[in-house]
Amino acid sequence: MSSYQAPLRDMQFVLRELAGLEEIAKLPGCEDVLDVADPILEEAATFASEVLDPINQTGDKEGCTWKDGNVTTPKGYKEAYAQFAKAGWIGLPVPAEYGGQGLPSLMLGPTLEMWNAANVGFANGPLLNQGAIEAIELVGSEEQKKLYIPKLVDGSWTGTMCLTEPQAGSDLAQVRTKAVPQGDHYLLTGQKIFITFGEHDMAENIVHLVLARLPDAPEGTKGISLFIVPKFLVNADGTLGKRNDMICAGIEHKMGINGNPTCTMNLGENGGAVGYLVGQPNEGLKYMFIMMNAARFSVGVQGMAIADRAYQSALQYAKERVQFRDVASRSPEPKRIIEHPDVRRMLMSMKSQIEAMRALCYVTAASLDFANKSPDEKVRKNIKGFVDLMIPVVKGWCTETAVDVCSTAVQVFGGVGYVEETGIAQQYRDVRITPIYEGTTGIQALDLVGRKLAQDMGATATRVIGNMQKAAKELEECENEDVKSLAGPLSKAIGALAETSQFIGMTAMGDLRKAVACSVPYLKLWGITAGGWQMARAALVCAEKIAAGSQDEFYKAKIATAKFYATHVLTQSAYLKRQILEGSGDVMTLTEAQFDLDRKSAVVA
Ligand SMILES: Cc1cc2nc3c(=O)[nH]c(=O)nc-3n(C[C@H](O)[C@H](O)[C@H](O)COP(=O)(O)OP(=O)(O)OC[C@H]3O[C@@H](n4cnc5c(N)ncnc54)[C@H](O)[C@@H]3O)c2cc1C
Repeated sequence: MSSYQAPLRDMQFVLRELAGLEEIAKLPGCEDVLDVADPILEEAATFASEVLDPINQTGDKEGCTWKDGNVTTPKGYKEAYAQFAKAGWIGLPVPAEYGGQGLPSLMLGPTLEMWNAANVGFANGPLLNQGAIEAIELVGSEEQKKLYIPKLVDGSWTGTMCLTEPQAGSDLAQVRTKAVPQGDHYLLTGQKIFITFGEHDMAENIVHLVLARLPDAPEGTKGISLFIVPKFLVNADGTLGKRNDMICAGIEHKMGINGNPTCTMNLGENGGAVGYLVGQPNEGLKYMFIMMNAARFSVGVQGMAIADRAYQSALQYAKERVQFRDVASRSPEPKRIIEHPDVRRMLMSMKSQIEAMRALCYVTAASLDFANKSPDEKVRKNIKGFVDLMIPVVKGWCTETAVDVCSTAVQVFGGVGYVEETGIAQQYRDVRITPIYEGTTGIQALDLVGRKLAQDMGATATRVIGNMQKAAKELEECENEDVKSLAGPLSKAIGALAETSQFIGMTAMGDLRKAVACSVPYLKLWGITAGGWQMARAALVCAEKIAAGSQDEFYKAKIATAKFYATHVLTQSAYLKRQILEGSGDVMTLTEAQFDLDRKSAVVA
């Protein structure tokens, strides 16, 4: 397996030409970003290739070990984490007052991509620090901010998100962990499962953010509160006190991301884990939902990143592997598989979808900056609506597509793709978690249909569809024939999106079950159309550069890639539209008994 090379050119192109880096630099507090963007990208690329990548495959093989409540991470993880923290990468988006670099969210797009492509097992650690920092910054008390955030930023401590319990997975209304008031703190008892980096040896302390119920809390989602439960209690001066009663009872044996431990955490086996309420009682789930935007965005990027890594490996293999003569030639000389049309198809399918995902991810990240920092309130509100709509799409579509892309990468490798040495099997195993955690694709689709589409009666969706139509019009008017040809497939996909949005909105008012029955195909339709929109924008920029005399092969390749996307990916919109409009009602037709009637013999004894 070759070492990871970050796709710097495409990252720079998307940042500048599609995501509006120059406009971001005009936002308050973002003035320096133009000067630092390229050096950050270069440094991150070097760190990813030289520090994280070398421990990716070894970390997967070695995995984590658990003994008597302690967890040892794979060789090299502890040292890499220390280097990562020292280089200041954890604090990239964190305000300077807490020791961070205060950079715009947009810069998280490429940096997150690099960490996750180089080593997703490792990258999950710092990702959780950022989640914990955001939660405490958002709703923590001044004392909590002072005590915990700087240590999470400088990396001496790490963070976790403790939501899941055996009976409470997608449905957090079922959370049962209890928190009983005890003077200035609470005592927590219960069990959390699947906690990423719940225990490890990379930092001196772990700050767990735990969802639990107060004794008098109402049932369901309205009775859940958020608590800080540190592994070691923290004295008022910031020094560490005694070990808290929250212990790792074991780690999972997983399909992938073996470099990070997934822990069962028992709280209160010896009297109660000391916890501190964050924000108001019973508001925990609301706080979690605010933070989930960032976490779901990050997992969408994670999927795209692993897909890009898999593509890179497949491309290199296709350039080296020799097999079969050219189908159209009489020469018996065998060719490299990259010369065979079907392998080309697979590579272009991967490349085009990755570029579409990257563009949509970075554009969403930039929108987060405009939504938070634009001086114009109307702009802030409109763009926030766009971000809210796109988050389930970025999470759901990018991760589902990433699984397909990684599967195609295994296919390019043929038989050796199915054995572990090449490393491509690891990408396929690693990426499989991304459509599951931080809310499964089914849950993202419910969020899209039930909340994001419904919250303003489809007004934001209509506005976004209108912007897409403007891009399609620009394509029609483009003098570059290849770029002009993108207009048809994009317009058809936009039409399908408009029609199905209306269908889902109308159906939801009468028969909600039928409306949600095809919510996942609907989410995918949003993804491929929004991705096509970004590819169209990219192609228009490239056409302009070429018309101005540029001979840069990058621009020509981008247009060819956008064309492939239009004919091979955007065209799927017709099939998705039929599935939604004509197939929604069919989802619920079988009775439960009919599902397995075929297993009962028809022969009567
Ligand atoms: C490796 C790993 C790391 C994790 N890390 C963390 C962590 O750090 N912290 C944490 O708190 N949790 C973590 N999780 C838990 C993860 O977030 C959950 O597994 C996930 O949210 C799904 O919950 P579940 O496994 O209980 O599945 P279930 O909720 O049982 O879902 C099973 C299936 O039913 C579907 N489904 C359920 N309800 C509905 C519905 N209403 N409509 C449509 N479909 C539905 C789902 O989409 C899914 O396909 C992790 C899990 C894993 C495997």
